[in-house]
Amino acid sequence: MSAPGTVDELDLLVSECRVCPRLVEWRERVAREKRASYAEQHYWGRPVPGFGPSDARLLILGLAPAAHGANRTGRMFTGDRSGDFLYAAMHAEGLANQPTAVHAGDGLQLLGARITSPVHCAPPANKPTPAERDNCRQWLVSELGLLASTVRAVVVLGGFGWQALLPVLADGGWTVPKPRPVFGHGAHVELAPSQPDGYPLHLFGSYHVSQQNTFTGRLTQPMLRQVLRHAADLAGLSPSR
Ligand code: SF4
Repeated sequence: MSAPGTVDELDLLVSECRVCPRLVEWRERVAREKRASYAEQHYWGRPVPGFGPSDARLLILGLAPAAHGANRTGRMFTGDRSGDFLYAAMHAEGLANQPTAVHAGDGLQLLGARITSPVHCAPPANKPTPAERDNCRQWLVSELGLLASTVRAVVVLGGFGWQALLPVLADGGWTVPKPRPVFGHGAHVELAPSQPDGYPLHLFGSYHVSQQNTFTGRLTQPMLRQVLRHAADLAGLSPSR
């Protein structure tokens, strides 16, 4: 397969991927069986591509689509409590035009930011295997390559995304320090470009917006907003964006 030449092309290719047998079976079974409260809805049931402009300066990296969230609606972090939390914070920081994400046609637009994940299919128990993560790595490599001329900061939601991203950054034109930076909420490291025509990249860590974290108060709106604000500022996104 030839590498996608545009972000739109990438998104289309991602949405047709069937490389991981376990995840294909699971995402399609969930889409057939559905949750009772969504019984009347048509589930997406396919890989969920990244969401946001193709010239984003800020990239937000999650883990994987939720079975009855993005696997239902077809758009990252849309239709579940994690998305409610994330988009409220993004809207408050001027990174989204509205604070809610209900379905793919609800008018939500991201402003200077794009959201993606290291695994594009909903996994059982929200736990992709290392092999599935490695299968999906090709898409993250392509996405970072296509964004490389504009992206200046990445906010990683959770340790899984952090571990998945570092080798991709090392291969994609940035110098990752050794020993590797450790994930934590509020972690921040500036990566120098490894090519003369590259740009530095600010890497930030945040606890994931899962209900496990947000319902227990481990991650609060002020905590997430502070990380997003810092990343947006260093990415050169003005407050009026
Ligand atoms: S997880 Fe990634 S590599 Fe695996 S089937 Fe889904 S899109 Fe393809």
